[in-house]
This record gives sequence, C-alpha cells and structure tokens, in this order.
Amino acid sequence: MPAGDPPLTVAELDELAVARLKGVGEKRKAALAAADIHSVWDLLTHYPRRYIDRTRQATIADLPTGEEGMVLVEVERVSSRRTRNRRTMVEAVVTDGTGRLTLTFFNQPWRERQLGAGLQAVVFGKVDTYRDKRQMTNPIVDLVGDRTGRIVPVYPQSEKAGLMTWDLVKLVSEALRRCEDRGIADPVPPAILAGLGLTDRSDALRRIHEPGEMKDVVVARRRLVFDELFRIQVKLVQRKRWLERTQRGVAHDTGGRLMARFHERLSFPLTPAQQRVIAEVVEDLAAGAPMHRLLQGDVGAGKTVVAVSALLTAIEGGHQGALMAPTEVLAEQHHLGISQLLDGFEVPDPGTLLGERPLSVELLTNRTAAAERRRVLTGLADGSTDLVIGTHALIQEAVDYRSLGVVVIDEQHRFGVEQRSALREKNVDHTVPDVLVMTATPIPRTAAMTVYGDLDVSVLDELPPGRTPIHTVWARTDEDEGRVWQQVRDEAAAGRQAYVVCPLIDESEKLEVRSAEETYEQLTHGELAELRVGLLHGRVTPADKEETMARFREGRIDVLVATTVIEVGVDVPNATVMVILDAARFGIAQLHQLRGRVGRGIHPSTCHLVGEATTPDGEARLEALVRTTDGFELAEVDLELRGEGTIMGERQKGRNDLKLASLRRDREWVERAREAAFDLLDRDPDLATVPDLAAEIDRVLGDDEAEYLLKS
Ligand code: ADP
Ligand code: MG
Repeated sequence: MPAGDPPLTVAELDELAVARLKGVGEKRKAALAAADIHSVWDLLTHYPRRYIDRTRQATIADLPTGEEGMVLVEVERVSSRRTRNRRTMVEAVVTDGTGRLTLTFFNQPWRERQLGAGLQAVVFGKVDTYRDKRQMTNPIVDLVGDRTGRIVPVYPQSEKAGLMTWDLVKLVSEALRRCEDRGIADPVPPAILAGLGLTDRSDALRRIHEPGEMKDVVVARRRLVFDELFRIQVKLVQRKRWLERTQRGVAHDTGGRLMARFHERLSFPLTPAQQRVIAEVVEDLAAGAPMHRLLQGDVGAGKTVVAVSALLTAIEGGHQGALMAPTEVLAEQHHLGISQLLDGFEVPDPGTLLGERPLSVELLTNRTAAAERRRVLTGLADGSTDLVIGTHALIQEAVDYRSLGVVVIDEQHRFGVEQRSALREKNVDHTVPDVLVMTATPIPRTAAMTVYGDLDVSVLDELPPGRTPIHTVWARTDEDEGRVWQQVRDEAAAGRQAYVVCPLIDESEKLEVRSAEETYEQLTHGELAELRVGLLHGRVTPADKEETMARFREGRIDVLVATTVIEVGVDVPNATVMVILDAARFGIAQLHQLRGRVGRGIHPSTCHLVGEATTPDGEARLEALVRTTDGFELAEVDLELRGEGTIMGERQKGRNDLKLASLRRDREWVERAREAAFDLLDRDPDLATVPDLAAEIDRVLGDDEAEYLLKS
C-alpha cells in the first residue's frame, strides 16, 4: 500500500483478504473464516467484547464468594483426571499475586493443552468454596498473552478453532499499522461529524482496538455506533423518499362531511390523541404521494375510529376502502361493529335521483359462500361497494377494485414490499392506495425507527377517558391463589364476569387443549363449582366457539376458561377479572394483551398473575406487569430483557450490521442518525456527493439485509 494514494475505503479494505496479513497461514485463515473474518474490514470491525483495565481490575483476594467476577491471572499448573462417573475434569491453579484460585472444568479435556503454566488469562465466573479452596467452575477464559498495555482488549474468540484473543490483538495491530500510510477514508460528511462531535473513522478504529485509557473506548464506540445506525437510516430514509417521489397515490379530497358526521355520531368525543393522529393521517391522504403509516396504539386506545376516519375520507371522494384483519373472527367482528357505526350513512352518487345512495359495507373472508362472494367481487369491481372488510384474501386473490383509495391493515406487523406491489396492481391506473398499518404491540420508538424506518409512525398514546384502571396482583402462593378464586366468586355474585387463561404450552396444541380441559374440570368441581363456566380452546369447533362467546357476551356464563385464543379482539365490558395461570410462562406482550381484555367497562378490574416465576427473567416480567399498565414502558422492559432479537427478528439477529450499537443503550443515537440521514438526503437524494458512503452502505448492508429492512 504505497503512500500518496488516497485513503483506503471500506470497499478496498473489504477486498483485501485477511490472509495477506503477516502470520496468517492456512490454519489461521480457516479459524478466522470460522469467525466470519475474511477481509481486513471484517477484522477491523471485529470489536473487543470487553477490556481489562489493569489499574482498576479486581483481585482474587477481594473477589466475593458467591458472586460473579472477573480477574486477570497467571496459570501456575494444570492437571487432568477422570471423575468417578468417567467425566474428565481439568483443574488449573491460577494466581494474581493476591491469592490463588482453582479453575475446574468438566468435560473440556482440551483445557489441559490450552492452559499452560505461565499463561496470562482473564477469567470470568462465580467464585465458590470447595473443601476450603476458592474455585470457579467452568469459567469463561480469555487468554490475553503477555500484553503489557494498561488496557487489554478481550476479543470474542473461538477456542475450538484456536483463534485466541492475542492472535487477534496482533493481527488487528498489524492491519492498523499497514493502513497508516494511506489512512482510512471517512465517507461521512465532516459537517455531520462536527455537528455531533464525533471523531473521524481511523481514529475511532484505532481507539477501539488499542485504547490508551477507557475514555478512548467511549469516544470510539460513539463514532462506530453512529456509523452502524447511520448506514441503516440512510438506506431506509432513501427508500422512503424514493417511494414518495416515484409512486403515484390518490390525492384525496379531505374537505368532505362524511368523516365529520361520523365523529358527530359517535357517543363519545375523540381523545386528543385520536384527533392528533387523525389529523396526521388526513394530511397524508390529501398529499399526492401514497401514505405508508404505522399506527401504534395500545389495546383499547381506539384505533378503529382512526381507521374508519381514514376509510371514510377515501369513500367521500368516490374511492373505496379496505380493512384487513389477521383472522376471520376479527374480520367478522370488525364487519359487525363498523356496519353498525356506519348504519344510515349515505355517499354522494350523482347518478341517482337524490344524488346519494347508502354507503355499502361488505365482508369477504374464506368463509364467504360462493354466491355471496361473487356478489361482493362484482360490487368491488364496479364500485358499488364502498368498504370491504376481510382477511388477507382481500389483496392476495384476484380481487379487483374500481378504485381502491385506502387500505387499513389491523394488528399486523409486517407489510412487505410484495404486498405493497400487490396493492399497486389493484388499481387499473396503477395509483397506489394509501396504507395504514395498525398494531397494538407497542414498539419502543427508536426500535420502530430502525425496523419501520421507511414508514411514518403515529402513536395513540392515550386511552379514552372513563377506563377503569386495572389493578394487577401477583398471586405467588397457594394462599394467594385461594384469594383469587374468592374474588372471582365475589365478582360473579355481583353480576360481573371473569376470564381464566390456562397455562401456556408451546410445544403442542394437543397438550394445551388437554391442560385447558383439566383446568376446566378442576375448577368446575372445585373452586368455581357454583358458577356457570364455559371452555374455549383451539380445538373447539367454530360454531361452538361462537355459541360460547355469545353466551359469555350475554352474561349467561360467569367464567370463561380459555387458552390464549382470547388474546385479541374479545370485548366484553362486563368482564372484570382476568386470571392468568402459570403466568410466568407468558411473554410480556402476551400478558399485556390478555390483561387488556378486562378494564373495558365502568367497574374496576383486576388481573391476577398466578404462580411463582421460575427464572429471574420471569420474575422481572411479572414485576413489570404489576408495576405498570403502560404498553410502551412494558415494551422497553421487554427489549431490556430479551434484547434486540425480539424486535429485529430471529433472522436479523444472526447477520446484521449492528455489531456495537444497541437499540436500547444507544436510543438517542438512533434518532440522531435518522436526523442526519434526512439532512443528507434532503440535500442530496441520490448520494451523488458521497459516492463512498453509497458504496459502503451497499456493501455492508448487503442484499439480504436491505431486503429485510425494507420488508416492514
Ligand atoms: P383498539 O385500539 O384496541 O382497536 P378500539 O378501537 O376497539 O380499540 O376501541 C376500544 C373501545 O373504546 C371501543 O369500545 C370504542 O368504542 C371505545 N372508544 C374509542 N374511542 C373512544 C373515545 N374517544 N372515548 C370513549 N371511548 C372510545
Ligand atoms: Mg382493534
């Protein structure tokens, strides 16, 4: 790499095979490949997972027994033997000058070869005492070699492949040294960096790998985290802008009376949040570019009113609306409810004597009978049907619309590129309908920005007034549980109703059904023997299910014992008690959804979480549910407990560009990166002034990644 050439770009670094570095033979090359390090760029972005600050680390002498700790030690001696039950046990005695520790490894015979006397290692584990000796069993071991620096980086290493942290230290150091002549290019405009107080890229890379003090790591991490988030945001914002420029939507006439009449007819005033969100939606509808908006609103926040307002806006201007629900049952419920809300509404129709005709609302699911189906399809094609409510079938099948203006998708997370292009096919003139996606699963704001970055997001962050708050109680002991059933009986005696949700059994529906039946038997012969109890689970026929639901709605059943089939859509205001058995087995989002089934009427409601937690996470989940009913707060806790994977999806977790950045820890950087992306793209929509950045984004995010991001 001769000096005088321009600084090295990511593309160049990524073309440079890591095997070109000194000391990388076939064996090491294979080990590096196993860690997904092929190029010098891969190596430079293989960041230390932690650092040992020699001046501040713990010592063996003051490691508390019974707690986890990390110490830098030197191996004194290693021995190996077989235990009575024929397992290998390797014991290493280590010291750091303040004391001795025995590391005990079971079933890891290779440790004997790995841990030679005199080696330096960082060990991490729980200290306990065994026969008066302090020891760690199966600790995490990072061999660090005889590094002399004050701060020792510890890399994610692959012991099996023989890739040790000191190998990486040497390789990275050589790579950095060889980049010095030309330097590493920085594709991010200096103004953006200066505005955010970020250091340049080569400095960041040097500091993260070879920090002189821990402060260096902070400075470096900030810059590198920004890069990861910025690449994603530029990609998303660019796509958003591109869609806005290239897709032709319907510029709806939003001045009409239909929506206003709908609001006047409601038996309640809109909440300020509903007003705000409806205004956001209406503004999108009036614009010529198609709307792609995500509406987040907790269970019961009143999303339906927003949906209907949007649909009416389309209908007013002579277009059609479609509402897509995730299941047939929900589609039917929506059809029932919305038909009632719109009963007696007229739409302008210049072809008729009075200049108007009744607004028509139809239902289309896989259960719709053939003749009825033909009728609905005809109405959609000739425009005499104004609003259609149904399942996925609405857009997937050969359903033709005369002019589809607005599509609302309820309780759906992903609405991908394919579905969007399917929508484009719906209209003969290839205008793209406006799309509103609604979800009751709260997603922390910054996570939404990353996952749904090319959508606009509206939040209904306020429940309608008059909701009675739900009191949540964790019934941990048998005694507590006794009180739960007492309350169910008391409420039933007072004319109210209750749900009992049976233990979740993930592995098999059959087992789950059996457990529901058992719970039902026990309760009807025990605690709830005096009450009218119904049973609902996945194997109940649709007819029986409807029958049971109807009886519950009409108050002819006191208690509904059910599996999670009642998770969404059930709305019985007279139900005031929710009992969730074995609650620790459910996830936060699911518990929150289930709890949302009560608290819908005028009487105060209670949610009982029954059973002990078996894991610390389970404990934290239940505690969070007891503490708050705020869905967004719960989503944050969920993110905290389960990590990004839950939001980015399993597929995303394996291979993504977020090596350092955490949507949780680096929240404000997500927002800053997004703002910077808007800034840049508004000045330079095609990234013409920053070709290196454009190339880097394509390279680093790759096709898979980009496709995934844009699938939202
Ligand atoms: P979700 O957001 O869960 O879909 P819904 O739209 O089903 O919520 O509304 C839940 C309940 O709240 C419905 O019974 C609805 O009539 C009622 N509701 C909606 N908006 C308001 C409001 N502004 N004031 C009072 N009640 C409302
Ligand atoms: Mg809803």
